[in-house]
Amino acid sequence: MLRARLFWKLYAGCAALLLLTLAGASWLVGQRLERQLIAEVEQQLHAHAAALREVAREALRTAEVATLGQQVRGLSVALGVRLTVLRDDGSVLADSAGRPAPAELHLERPEIEQARRHGLGKAVRHSHLLGLRMRYVALAIVDDGRLLGYARAALPETQVTAKQAAFRRRLAGAAALAGLGGLALALLLVRRLTRPLTALASTAEAMAAGTYDRAVRVRAQDEVGTLGRAFNRMAQDLRERLTTLTREHTQLLAILDSMVEGVIAVDAEERIVHLNDAAGVILRLSPAEALGKPVWEVTRVRPVVEAITATLRHGGKTRREARVMGQGGEQVLSIHAAPWGNGQGNVAGAVVVLHDVTDLRRLETVRRDFVANVSHELKTPVTAIKGFVETLRDSALDDRAQAERFLDIIARHAERLHTIIEDLLTLARLEQSPEDAALPRDAHLVAEVLQAAVQDCAAKAVARQIRIEVRCDPALRAPLNAPLLEQALVNLLDNAMNASKDGSTVWLEAEPEGGDLVIRVRDQGIGIAPQHLPRIFERFYRVDKARSREHGGTGLGLAIVKHIALAHGGRVSVTSAVGQGSTFCLHLPLAAAPQASAASVAT
Ligand code: ADP
Repeated sequence: MLRARLFWKLYAGCAALLLLTLAGASWLVGQRLERQLIAEVEQQLHAHAAALREVAREALRTAEVATLGQQVRGLSVALGVRLTVLRDDGSVLADSAGRPAPAELHLERPEIEQARRHGLGKAVRHSHLLGLRMRYVALAIVDDGRLLGYARAALPETQVTAKQAAFRRRLAGAAALAGLGGLALALLLVRRLTRPLTALASTAEAMAAGTYDRAVRVRAQDEVGTLGRAFNRMAQDLRERLTTLTREHTQLLAILDSMVEGVIAVDAEERIVHLNDAAGVILRLSPAEALGKPVWEVTRVRPVVEAITATLRHGGKTRREARVMGQGGEQVLSIHAAPWGNGQGNVAGAVVVLHDVTDLRRLETVRRDFVANVSHELKTPVTAIKGFVETLRDSALDDRAQAERFLDIIARHAERLHTIIEDLLTLARLEQSPEDAALPRDAHLVAEVLQAAVQDCAAKAVARQIRIEVRCDPALRAPLNAPLLEQALVNLLDNAMNASKDGSTVWLEAEPEGGDLVIRVRDQGIGIAPQHLPRIFERFYRVDKARSREHGGTGLGLAIVKHIALAHGGRVSVTSAVGQGSTFCLHLPLAAAPQASAASVAT
């Protein structure tokens, strides 16, 4: 478009200028030369009239006019003009064009009248005799101050106009040639001038459309060339800046998207200008769909909307915590909103960072509960010890039997304190290395570890006449931390015996199953009600507190079992039915341990 407009504008301007100049110049030159032509014709007629005057003067002076007619005709033929001699009264004496009516007087003719008054007269008029338009030049014939007559030379005006027409044709031809040449030259010049501009314009249009890898080809050394080179430099600069900006933008987006925290940026009208993936997950939004929409329209998480509104209203930071329903249930969100400015001190929008602090808050609760539980567990034996020491000191020292009974009680509570502290320390050690990487494991014969655990429980089993039946392939090996696994099994066997009646049986079985070593401790005891099962592995959780204490339990046994399983890279599970018994399973990864068929070893 620009090419057409600029090209035709310039070309039409040049052409109009050229044609106007040519027309003006032709007109001026034509006028001048035409005047010159007429002047020349008149000069010629003047000379011919002067020659005629000399011939006629003599004849008129001497009144010998008989041969004048012949002389005039001869002269007329020689000069190629019409010649007329008139008497002073205006009558024709001789005329090369023929004989006029004798009565006709020519004094009224303008050229004769002028000649009578000034000696010279000129006129262009219609000739009555010839019926043509003629150009006349007349001279008065004077002799010694006496007017004798007039000598007149004339040419048909057609001869003059024919010369004029021929001259005009030549002039027009020359002007047309010059015009054509000029137009062609103007075309070349305008094209030369507009071509780089057109290239510049199309490159600029391409840049506006987002294509920055084009350059204008300019060879000219003039201002247009300078403009083209400056344009290319600008495009190059723009390209580099754009590349840098795009890279930085991509990096920023990648960084934002890789953040664990949700980030939402809104403008002053609360329209979302950015939403990272984490924010999309927390608010259950698709970032692509949410962009450009007001935040209150796309999310129902009111605390986030309120934080944004408060920040935009007051221009300050807002911080709050809220419980929201997330994909995996209730979540605790820490919401930080801060304003962002447009660089001129105005609030242009707000950035909100959402942090899922559910785990943190849960851990805080666990820690608080744990401290409370530990304090509570320790308080009972410590209070008892303190009370009996006081009583001993006050009175009972004298009564030896009483004192010994009190010391037994103090010793029992001290033992209980020791057990609780031992269990807590075990748990703390296990928690320090929750991943199996830190736990030293060797390939052990599983049956040996089971037997060792049974041995540890033998005294209680014998006392309660409980039979512990072990089933395990004696050749089965597994990568184990034997002391820890033994402790876990002792805890499970102890619980099983506590839940069982005297004289009953407890089973301890181990076998490979789907890449795991599965160790089961099964009893036919009181069982556990379903509502307790999800919490049974929590620290200090007990189904029946009194019963647990009775057996000297700390409420930490199953928590220790769970952590030992985790430390082996495995897990623990339980199935139970009230009145029928429970089965606790340890699932420990077997790795490269050899597989073996089950065998039964009874103890
Ligand atoms: P405790 O020191 O009290 O045994 P544990 O953590 O070992 O603590 O066990 C937690 C609770 O789980 C016990 O108090 C008991 O109520 C219940 N429990 C554990 N094992 C069994 C089982 N085999 N049969 C029935 N209840 C059990």
